[in-house]
Amino acid sequence: MKALVFSEFPETAAQMVTYLRKLGEADAATLSSKADALKEYGAGKVYALNGQMQSDNVSAFLAETYKSGGYDYIFVASTILGREVAGAVSQSLDVDITSEIVEFQPGQGNVHTKRNFLGGKTVLEEESESRVFTFAPGIVDAEKAGSASEVASVELKPSAVTVASVEEKQTSGVNLEKAKIIVSIGRGVGKKENIAQVEPLVKAVNGELAGSRPVCLDYQWLSDERQVGISGKKVRPNVYIAVGISGQIQHIAGMRGSKIVVALNKDKTAPIFDESDYGIVGDLFQIVPKLVQALGA
Ligand SMILES: Cc1cc2nc3c(=O)[nH]c(=O)nc-3n(C[C@H](O)[C@H](O)[C@H](O)COP(=O)(O)OP(=O)(O)OC[C@H]3O[C@@H](n4cnc5c(N)ncnc54)[C@H](O)[C@@H]3O)c2cc1C
Repeated sequence: MKALVFSEFPETAAQMVTYLRKLGEADAATLSSKADALKEYGAGKVYALNGQMQSDNVSAFLAETYKSGGYDYIFVASTILGREVAGAVSQSLDVDITSEIVEFQPGQGNVHTKRNFLGGKTVLEEESESRVFTFAPGIVDAEKAGSASEVASVELKPSAVTVASVEEKQTSGVNLEKAKIIVSIGRGVGKKENIAQVEPLVKAVNGELAGSRPVCLDYQWLSDERQVGISGKKVRPNVYIAVGISGQIQHIAGMRGSKIVVALNKDKTAPIFDESDYGIVGDLFQIVPKLVQALGA
């Protein structure tokens, strides 16, 4: 099996290469300025892409390289750019695509894949003739391979899209995907000013603050980069503490990979308790200070 991998983020490409090199050969493409960060993860070759990266020229590069390089499959990280690229490649190669896979097994002709379905409520196992796949980021940890890949510099064709100007989005620099401990708040905190009452817990566990969609998107109590869920970040911390979150499936889809889940909710029937290793039924405004005290902070 020979796979061609693309992600604009070297760490996500490294995760896919780590997964795929156990099944066969994998080469990977990323932005040239980030290509060095991908060299240590066992790709046979790293394609360092130069030029303004857009879905049309990246998909053209992948389609041409797939054909000329004798690749069996193309794997694209499921990012905003990646999802657009994957659709365009499958269309131009006239091959099937399976999106958001979490497991892949090549076979004789058909491939076997697993992907989360119904917002993560169930896992769909499929046999298909797909040749293009989007891979959910964070499925495995990237592991170094002990040897450096050959790097091939590639000039992307000019894109049909002209970028008139770029404005950097204001971010706080939080990286929830890498956080080991997350304290996530939901609508149960009531109002923005009440977040101050949860912050001592975040500090006490040395964690990152995150939130459900209402908190981040609807009410904007937290920035959107802190949203966990199917339309937010997919996180896999060692400990996920859900405070005043009901546990709807769209939220669970973003934190199901957490190793230990602690839920605090005043409603003992809240679905979050079905996903939790430890549950505390009670009013968060009374329980959080006690937790902080118990943690000795
Ligand atoms: C297409 C789509 C995509 C979506 N994507 C996402 C997503 O990415 N992430 C996401 O989170 N949601 C997402 N949602 C929304 C999701 O369906 C839920 O509406 C949302 O997760 C609920 O957020 P919540 O748990 O904060 O609020 P609620 O469901 O209102 O729950 C609040 C909880 O707080 C508890 N509570 C209240 N007061 C207290 C107190 N004093 N002490 C302790 N507990 C208290 C209540 O018992 C309740 O269980 C999406 C929905 C759609 C349709």
